Amino acid sequence: MSLDLKSLVRTIPDYPKKGILFRDITTLIEHPQGFRESVERIAALYAGQGITHVAGIEARGFIFGAGVAIALGAGFVPIRKKGKLPGETIGQNYALEYGVDTIEIHADVVGPAHNVLLVDDLIATGGTALAAVGLLRRTGAAVAHAAFVIDLVELGGAARLAAEDVAVSALMEFE
Ligand code: IMP
Repeated sequence: MSLDLKSLVRTIPDYPKKGILFRDITTLIEHPQGFRESVERIAALYAGQGITHVAGIEARGFIFGAGVAIALGAGFVPIRKKGKLPGETIGQNYALEYGVDTIEIHADVVGPAHNVLLVDDLIATGGTALAAVGLLRRTGAAVAHAAFVIDLVELGGAARLAAEDVAVSALMEFE
C-alpha cells in the first residue's frame, strides 16, 4: 500500500501569527519514504512531457524542485528572494498581505527554447506562483505547469493560475 503523505504533514496553529494554521512539510521530508514518494509522485506526473527545467521557489521549493529536476533529467532554476543571485538578474514584485516582496532569476538562465515546470511546497492565494510564472515567461520560456505538495484549495490559487494558462497539480489538499 502506498504511503499516506498527508498524514506526514504537521499542522502548527498560530504560526507565523495568531489564527494561522501553518502546514509544516519538515515532518514529511524527515520521513525517508515520505520525502522520496513526494518527489517521485510529482515527477511521474510530468515524465515524457519535454520539461527542460524545474524552477523552485525559495526556500521550500528548492527541497522538492531539486529532486523533481533530477528525476526528470531536467535542469534546476532557483527563484530567489531579492539580492541573493550573483549575476545579472530580472525581478518581479508581488504583493504580500502587508507590503511587497521581490523574486529574482538570472537573466540568462532560460529562454524561448525551454519548457519550465514550477515547483513549490504549497499554494495558497497563488500570488507567489503567479509572480514566478510572470518572471519566467518574460524570458520567453514556456511555463504551462506548476506542481505543489499542498494546495490550500479555499484560497483559490490553483484557479488563479489556471486563468493564466498554468495547469496545477498538488499531492494533497487542505481546507
Ligand atoms: P501564496 O502566494 O498566497 O500562494 O502563498 C504561498 C507561499 O507562502 C509559498 O511560498 C508557501 O511556501 C508559503 N506558505 C503560505 N502558507 C503556508 C503554510 O501553511 N505552510 C507552508 N508555507 C506556506
